[in-house]
Amino acid sequence: MVVLNEKEKEYISSKIRDVHDFPKPGIIFKDITTLLNDKEAFNFLIEHLTQRYKSFDFEFITGIESRGFILAGALAATLNKAFVPIRKPKKLPYTTISEKYSLEYGIDEIEIHIDAFDKSSQRPPKVLLIDDLIATGGTAKAAIRLLKKIHVECVEACFLINLKFLKGDVEIAQSTPIYSVLEIF
Ligand code: AMP
Repeated sequence: MVVLNEKEKEYISSKIRDVHDFPKPGIIFKDITTLLNDKEAFNFLIEHLTQRYKSFDFEFITGIESRGFILAGALAATLNKAFVPIRKPKKLPYTTISEKYSLEYGIDEIEIHIDAFDKSSQRPPKVLLIDDLIATGGTAKAAIRLLKKIHVECVEACFLINLKFLKGDVEIAQSTPIYSVLEIF
């Protein structure tokens, strides 16, 4: 299984900017725009993900709005796979199915088009799920429930950054393989 060595992880990590107290006090926001606007670093990351996933068996890559779209879209192009967006409520124009999840204060929701996956083959479609970061895991868990609802199989959930200290990955890992390029303990 293709993973990065420590030096390669340090290289990717050095391109991600920590923004303190954004969007609210106490949060260290992992800003990946400084990685995306560095063509060598962005290409290195996508090439790594391409090498990792080229031997996996799946047809679709689904990205979570909005930074997940950037990685998922680029990877879908290099791997010649189809791309499916998972979006925030009321953004998708056609009929959707949705899944709610809890935030620190209140509830959020994600949606997917009801016909997003081609179901013409005999087995359920296989999907790789991508987001930029897993924190509490609420978003990713809701995305995996959404994929289950629509009867597709999630072959792996892939994140650029895993905030391990929040343990958001623990429950997901019981049912779905997880790969994180960088883990922050
Ligand atoms: P969670 O549902 O708590 O796992 O949060 C994951 C989602 O929130 C992802 O889509 C991330 O893009 C975003 N997110 C949460 N925490 C951060 C953070 N510290 N830096 C950047 N993005 C974050």
